[in-house]
Amino acid sequence: MKKLALSDEILMTIDKPARYIGNETNMVVKDTNAVDIRFCMCFPDVYEIGMSHLGIQILYDMFNRREDTYCERVYSPWPDLDKIMREKKIPLFALESQEPIKKFDFLGITLQYEMCYTNVLQILDLSGIPLLAKDRTEEDPFVLGGGPCTYNPEPLADFFDFFYIGEGETVYDQLLDLYKEHKQQGGSRKEYLEKVAQIEGIYVPSLYDVTYKEDGTIERFNKNNDHAKDKIKKQVEMKLENTYYPKKPLVPYIRATQDRVVLEIQRGCIRGCRFCQAGMVYRPVRERSMDFLKEYATEMLKATGHEEISLSSLSSSDFSGLQELVYFLIEECGKQKVNISLPSLRIDAFALDVMSKVQDVKKSSLTFAPEAGSQRLRDVINKGLTEETILNGAMEAFKGGWNRVKLYFMLGLPTENEEDIEGIAILSDKIAREYYTLPKEQRNGKIGITASTSFFVPKPFTPFQWSRMDTAKEYLSKQHFLRSKFNEQLNKKSIKYNWHEAELSVLEGVFARGDRRVGQALLAAYKEGCLFDSWSEFYDNDKWEKAFADTGIDIDFYTCREREIDEILPWDFIDAGITKAFLAREYKQAKEAKLTPNCKMACSACGATVFGGGICFETREQEVSAK
Ligand code: SF4
Repeated sequence: MKKLALSDEILMTIDKPARYIGNETNMVVKDTNAVDIRFCMCFPDVYEIGMSHLGIQILYDMFNRREDTYCERVYSPWPDLDKIMREKKIPLFALESQEPIKKFDFLGITLQYEMCYTNVLQILDLSGIPLLAKDRTEEDPFVLGGGPCTYNPEPLADFFDFFYIGEGETVYDQLLDLYKEHKQQGGSRKEYLEKVAQIEGIYVPSLYDVTYKEDGTIERFNKNNDHAKDKIKKQVEMKLENTYYPKKPLVPYIRATQDRVVLEIQRGCIRGCRFCQAGMVYRPVRERSMDFLKEYATEMLKATGHEEISLSSLSSSDFSGLQELVYFLIEECGKQKVNISLPSLRIDAFALDVMSKVQDVKKSSLTFAPEAGSQRLRDVINKGLTEETILNGAMEAFKGGWNRVKLYFMLGLPTENEEDIEGIAILSDKIAREYYTLPKEQRNGKIGITASTSFFVPKPFTPFQWSRMDTAKEYLSKQHFLRSKFNEQLNKKSIKYNWHEAELSVLEGVFARGDRRVGQALLAAYKEGCLFDSWSEFYDNDKWEKAFADTGIDIDFYTCREREIDEILPWDFIDAGITKAFLAREYKQAKEAKLTPNCKMACSACGATVFGGGICFETREQEVSAK
């Protein structure tokens, strides 16, 4: 048994010691002396959240299939341990070998949401790795970032040696081969960075400089090194059969946030909702084959002993083989008493049939995400969902015995007016009224509706990347207004209204569309003690405000300013496949509340054909029937 990095005494005093001891089912054990490359994969949040992340499981499995590489894991130490580690000067360690991260060749950090950025600094700090990339020496690991936030890596540019933009599977072998060769030949840190800068999808921020105009907008983004590329092209894996997928995912000893087998059925989304970054940057849609899915579902359930399997996709209903797969799983899982969960499913006859078969009807509630309260605003965001569809779906469900409904909305969407906000309360009430049109004997008690609003945050590579976002004050007044409108509704007692915190959304907005300069505020906030910002019990807005004030960074410049279409945006050097012209066209369509058809109905020439496959090259049904 490996000696643990933390003493028994420490483990006894902290919350959930199982977060730090490793040894989970399916953990990979290798001889650290027998490998050439040591890679530490990090999810900068607490263990239970990190362990639920599919991407890490995929990369962990993939890297460890290489004999020359040992991939281990680290998650953010919870504040109780963080304090002890600082006091006792215990370096941060990887779970598998329990050895300090500083000894590794790479520290790969997945960036899933902006509110984990201070945790990234915590990981570096506790590891004894200089926070700024420019201060690192030959003794330090290379710090690289991946994941959705790398579509605008600029706020983190000073802290990372390089970023990888695209799907994890494509270039990592190249990266590791190159490193092995580099290590054998003996070269400097800078030389390796110049070499990786030539791999497609890799962005080395230190090889570029940015200059700004007097008004604060970007003047130029300049290469300062001949090895730097003009554009960083997103990498995608077009044949999903070629991708790695773990047949034996790690199973934690303590309850993870998502305690189940996750089966990714497809990548990308056909829908084109204008606020959704994932829907834009993961284009084009590529489906996994039925044989693959059936085989992996069976194997993973066997290897983990999990009692639930969840289908993962941005929009499960659009997967062409959904019925076949779900009925297969019902059969297969029924034998093993395994639950099936189907998020992102549109409510139709098929969905209700499936749900009645796989879920305990009494316990479950239905989820609709109309996102906006009025039809006009749903058209602005290209949601492709009508009130009629929502009400019909709800009615079908009520007839089937459901009486609890969850509704998700956003406040602060571009062009939003009071009518749109009021529409949220009206729609919720209409759903309740729909329920009471059922004869009393067919009703299953009282209706319960939970309506939640989050605040809209514009993201890079979406048609709303140019739009202004509200201030915290504006958000709060909208929330207040909506609450009063809920109180005016006939069925107000059946409707519960939940809301999100406004200040956090503003901060998310700064980092989502920030440039390199906002990294200074991040560093200052971390030094003030900000950590675990996505956890409301730790979020401290005063500290953040002080950090912005001390560094002279104006929040409003990044949030509530509509950009000109030709302004140089901080992420313009990334080629995500979708063209700026397409996004600008969509922004215009949004302002006119005009819909754009989904990829299955018609191609809207977003630019993703450059990847040479997926939905872009499939024959469309209308075309077939027109012949
Ligand atoms: S090129 Fe056309 S079909 Fe392909 S993702 Fe873009 S809009 Fe959809």
